[in-house]
Amino acid sequence: MNKKPEKKEKTKKGELQLLRGMKDILPNEQDYWELIRNKVAQFASLYGYERLDPPVLESTALFLRSTGKYSDVVEKEMFSFIDKGGDNVSLRPELTPSMCRAYIEHGMVNLPQPVKLYTLAPVFRHDKPQAGRYRQFYQIDFEVIGSSRPVIDAEMIAIQYFLYKDLGLQAQVQINSVGCPHCRPTYENLLREYYHTKKRNLCETCKKRLQRNALRLLDCKEEACREMAEGAPQFLDNLCEECREHFVKVLEHLDAAEIPYTLNSHIVRGLDYYTKTAFEFYPILGEGEKEGSQSAISGGGRYDLLISELGGREGTGAIGFAIGVERLILLLKAQQITIPAPKQIDIFLAQVGESARKQAIRLLEELRKAGFNARALLDKESLSAQLSLASKLGVKFTLILGQKEMLDKTILLRDMSSGAQEIVDVKKVQHELSKRLDKLNGEK
Ligand code: AMP
Repeated sequence: MNKKPEKKEKTKKGELQLLRGMKDILPNEQDYWELIRNKVAQFASLYGYERLDPPVLESTALFLRSTGKYSDVVEKEMFSFIDKGGDNVSLRPELTPSMCRAYIEHGMVNLPQPVKLYTLAPVFRHDKPQAGRYRQFYQIDFEVIGSSRPVIDAEMIAIQYFLYKDLGLQAQVQINSVGCPHCRPTYENLLREYYHTKKRNLCETCKKRLQRNALRLLDCKEEACREMAEGAPQFLDNLCEECREHFVKVLEHLDAAEIPYTLNSHIVRGLDYYTKTAFEFYPILGEGEKEGSQSAISGGGRYDLLISELGGREGTGAIGFAIGVERLILLLKAQQITIPAPKQIDIFLAQVGESARKQAIRLLEELRKAGFNARALLDKESLSAQLSLASKLGVKFTLILGQKEMLDKTILLRDMSSGAQEIVDVKKVQHELSKRLDKLNGEK
């Protein structure tokens, strides 16, 4: 049978390119990512957090029940679809719901409390892409589940403060309380009263929010809404006794730790589950710097009711924060914070001729196993191309393996700074290199 070859489908323009709002993390950015991953792991370990990596895909119901069906993130920005088995699933728009689900599902309530968890992972929001705002972005997420104590709120803020400081970034926390189910309805009524006569000047979204989520009017970015929010009654003046006491204690702990903060009654966070402490970190920028000045680097807060709402034990207090990694990197670059230089490459191995090339992989592996940071350019035959890369890399010594050396079981050892070359026994090459490198390092 003569089957006709299938016709190749024509690709639409742009079909094979990055999706809108998505980003490749290219090799030239990896130093920043590596630095951040290492710092986060170091801080997590110092503060006693354990890593938990939940899957990217979860049941949509999880986010409806936690993040909240009327939150922008769920209502407008979630990547949701029905999978092949007919289940309604979503790419996570944030990490807290998954961390809480995992805490409940794996019976972590039986561990010594509180349980401290962290991760660094991608999240997805179908937001309007712009500079520093992506549809897939990474968050560093820290959660403490099983404590309602104000000192934990302060410690969460401290972790971010010291992490930014350690990275050389100037940032300050802005803090507020969003109360609890006792005091929030009364405060929301106060807000509705305040906005009642001004309603027609609100943006369309805020008009809708006024009934079902009045708090959100306070952090609307529209000019007119912002002006109105300035004169609104403040939650801090209207907290119930328990929330007020909690808030005062958090501030006392921050004072004691000498962590500066600003009270900001407009920090209400966009998600449904927050109770009591809510905070966001903003960069402190120098003159002329405007990178991300409007945007928070990180945000978070307490969510004392979420665990029980998701089926966990009643009264399980919890708090968390998320840092946006891309935003953090933008700020590191904007504030011209340089990355520590990568480890010096010690040795370059150049090969001339087919049989030398065959030995190169084995020889390089032996050098690496012995602890040398060694490189080569195996797909090039020209010695001058190899030597030119060796000097570009700034290596101290180059080993040259040619036809003659192969026969004699020797290798040429070239000192890159003086250009002097010596013939050494291939068996002694590691010893000779160590001797020379130690001498150089000793001279530093
Ligand atoms: P949120 O949960 O919205 O408070 O986000 C926490 C942090 O994630 C923010 O402070 C940002 O640093 C970062 N972030 C939020 N949305 C985006 C986005 N669309 N693109 C990049 N980073 C984001």
